Amino acid sequence: MRHEVDVLVIGAGPGGSMSAKFAAENGADVLMIEKRQEVGSPVRCGEGIAELWLNDLGIKPDKRWIANQVDGARLFSPSGHCLTMDAARAGSETGFVVERDIFDRTLASEAVLAGSDLWVRAMAMGAKVEGDTVKEVVVDRLGERITVVPKVVIAADGFESRAASWVGLDSRLKLKDIDSCIQYRMVGIDDDARYNDFYAGSDAPGGYVWVFSKGEGVANVGIGVAASKLKAPADVKMYLDRFIAKHPEFAKGKAVDMVAGAVSTSLPMDQTVKGNFMLVGDSARMVDALTGGGVVNACMAGKIAGRLSAEYVQGSDVLGDYERAWRSELENTMVRNYVAKEKAVNVTDEQFDRIVLALQELEITTITTAEILGAVAKAVPDLVAELDLMF
Ligand SMILES: Cc1cc2nc3c(=O)[nH]c(=O)nc-3n(C[C@H](O)[C@H](O)[C@H](O)COP(=O)(O)OP(=O)(O)OC[C@H]3O[C@@H](n4cnc5c(N)ncnc54)[C@H](O)[C@@H]3O)c2cc1C
Repeated sequence: MRHEVDVLVIGAGPGGSMSAKFAAENGADVLMIEKRQEVGSPVRCGEGIAELWLNDLGIKPDKRWIANQVDGARLFSPSGHCLTMDAARAGSETGFVVERDIFDRTLASEAVLAGSDLWVRAMAMGAKVEGDTVKEVVVDRLGERITVVPKVVIAADGFESRAASWVGLDSRLKLKDIDSCIQYRMVGIDDDARYNDFYAGSDAPGGYVWVFSKGEGVANVGIGVAASKLKAPADVKMYLDRFIAKHPEFAKGKAVDMVAGAVSTSLPMDQTVKGNFMLVGDSARMVDALTGGGVVNACMAGKIAGRLSAEYVQGSDVLGDYERAWRSELENTMVRNYVAKEKAVNVTDEQFDRIVLALQELEITTITTAEILGAVAKAVPDLVAELDLMF
């Protein structure tokens, strides 16, 4: 069976749904395929999303997917010193803890309402490529083999992406650029629902622990550890359990579910468009290397890829613009945060304490990068020479 479309979007995560929505809104005939039977499930996410960027993306906060609205974020050093970043100090830290499954389904519904078709239980298996052009994609839909003939392919197939290799793009990651994650949804804990909390230091080597509150004693309590720092994969769980046991406010609760996954903490890929093929979101390694957040970046890139793909099928040779367009929105911050991550991986507990204490003392209304750097320079001069270059 053959199926011709203007734009084939692989993966119905946030990156795929935004791509499909903007391609369809701009007049393309779009098919989005999703290998799972239900968009958004199971959830593999801390579910923290900054409000500022949602506004930029035109995604309206919706009580169906907002579990909790937070006033800011708190960073705890290993000895328990706390840096609070509220809206006045760091506007981009205010935001939502979402119900990610409902969030993803809402975005997918918007794509469908804009005119895109969506096939679930439909997995891209491979492609026929001639030169730089993907001519056909073989899809397994509930056991049936369908040959999709697209004019453009947008691959938004996530961390485990296979599609990049079809056109010879190398998305392999070094061990040092992968964080191994595990998260419990905990109930019956004592947390502060006003803040998303982060715990740095040797509790989570090369990464951090997060506590993202969903309100009423429920929170996502998770950990990311640099894969290069793990002796055995199962050690991630050991680190999280050890952290929880050390904190009576969390140890009094119980886990009601668990997710495990990985995030890239690399630079984005050097090349994300080739011929009629574009990569969006995690498949292009667009995750923020310092925070591990990737939802907003995937949405931003998807919005651009969707619009350009529609212009392309209408006759404008614009796909090459994708590279420049998404990089001008996202790349500076991604590179800066990658350099910061590379440094943070080797910061000692004692240095983290000094950094947080120094930042606490900043008498300012908004924390800018330069002010942070100035404070860190005073607290930990040995770190700052290299940090200075990146700013
Ligand atoms: C434990 C954990 C916690 C995280 N916490 C946060 C957080 O708090 N905030 C944040 O912003 N980010 C977080 N992230 C990262 C975030 O989840 C991703 O960056 C985001 O989901 C990227 O969106 P995407 O659309 O690129 O990919 P995904 O959301 O992964 O979507 C890819 C989709 O493609 C589908 N797919 C894959 N292969 C195929 C195929 N061959 N055919 C058809 N479909 C296919 C998959 O089933 C999936 O639905 C976290 C990640 C992990 C692992």
